[in-house]
Amino acid sequence: MILPRERCVELVSSGSELLDGRRLNTHARLLGGELERLGLRLVRDTTVPDDSAAMRETILSALQRVDLLFITGGLGPTSDDITREVVAEIASRKIVMHEPTREKNNEWLKRRNRTPNESFDRHALIVEGAAVLSNRAGLAPGERIELDGKTIVLLPGPPHELRAILDDHVIPWLRSCIGGDLPLCRSFRFCGTGESDIAMRLASAGFSEVGLEVAYCARPGDVELRLIASPSAREKFDQAIALVRKIFPSEIYSETAGEEIPLELVIGNLLREKKLTLATAESCTGGLIGHRITNVSGSSDYFRGGCVSYSNKIKIAQLGVAPETLAKFGAVSEAVAREMAEGVRRVFGADIGLSTTGIAGPTGGTAEKPVGLVFIAVADARGTVVREMRTGGEREYIKTVSAQSVFDLLRRRLCDLA
Ligand code: ATP
Repeated sequence: MILPRERCVELVSSGSELLDGRRLNTHARLLGGELERLGLRLVRDTTVPDDSAAMRETILSALQRVDLLFITGGLGPTSDDITREVVAEIASRKIVMHEPTREKNNEWLKRRNRTPNESFDRHALIVEGAAVLSNRAGLAPGERIELDGKTIVLLPGPPHELRAILDDHVIPWLRSCIGGDLPLCRSFRFCGTGESDIAMRLASAGFSEVGLEVAYCARPGDVELRLIASPSAREKFDQAIALVRKIFPSEIYSETAGEEIPLELVIGNLLREKKLTLATAESCTGGLIGHRITNVSGSSDYFRGGCVSYSNKIKIAQLGVAPETLAKFGAVSEAVAREMAEGVRRVFGADIGLSTTGIAGPTGGTAEKPVGLVFIAVADARGTVVREMRTGGEREYIKTVSAQSVFDLLRRRLCDLA
């Protein structure tokens, strides 16, 4: 789709560490998502090393294509922090001290019993004439520079500082510039259904993409289907949403206006609503499920605890799995998954027990029990459901998909779908 120029935005991410494998560049993800919600589109993210010539060339070329450019990183005090110097040179402006920022930073030092110095003061330097975007999460402020009808926004590199300045200044400013209605956006998240399957089922149910923007994003054990429409296409948008809900009555685990709700939060909300408690018995996921459950603040309302029962000895001693079951079927089996889920439910006194046992590889697979064979189980007052999964991929992928799948089995159980 060709977008009008006023909707297109570019990002220049600076930092050699983003190019040599030391650091994952997360800024495009954050900024791109926020812009999308405002009806703008991040159309290019160029990563440059800490090199003035490379940065200058990239900025000049981006300004030929777009009127709004974000540049992140390189606002600190060290010699590799070159962003404001390069931008000042392009804009033919001086670099000046922003006294309110220097004072605020000195207060910060005082509270930590440290003395100001020249290097530290560099955090408070700005390009002359820039609007200063104060930074409540760090020391270097953001800057908004107007230049020949274009806007350049400089933002610090640390992701939590970027987040703070986006929330406090950039998003409110963009909202005030855009005015009018925001685009319509609906995000559906699926577990256990691949993107090609979703696309096929939509097509065979007569789903038409005309007048809509339809995007898929697949991650291990998770697919997002996103529908976007202009505010004038409200009727078409509502019809499309109704059709998606009808085609996938049990597969969708979250439906939002664009924000991301992880499956563990969906489950946490269901458990709290139903006043049920949960305990986990993990073998191949090695604690990943407990980690994800406890990533949700307030999870102590429903999470009793878990047992990482990696060895057979622990499965027997802590969960009460019968030695005969292990001897007869092996640790990776339907029967052991069942006894683990029932055992942890009983031992932890929880309403629901869940379990995983499988072969995450790359070693340990056999012809009968290959890498990627995983059994997941959920035990509750109505009985126990066990599912056999056969997935491929690397160890971490298998662990992620196993955790995601047992969460989804639990979700379905809690919604009377399994
Ligand atoms: P500081 O004042 O902390 O020096 P800065 O604006 O100079 O901030 P950098 O020095 O470039 O920013 O980066 C600070 C930290 O943020 C580094 O750990 C860096 O790896 C990280 N960072 C920078 N850019 C990104 C990015 N695009 N994605 C993820 N992390 C980033």
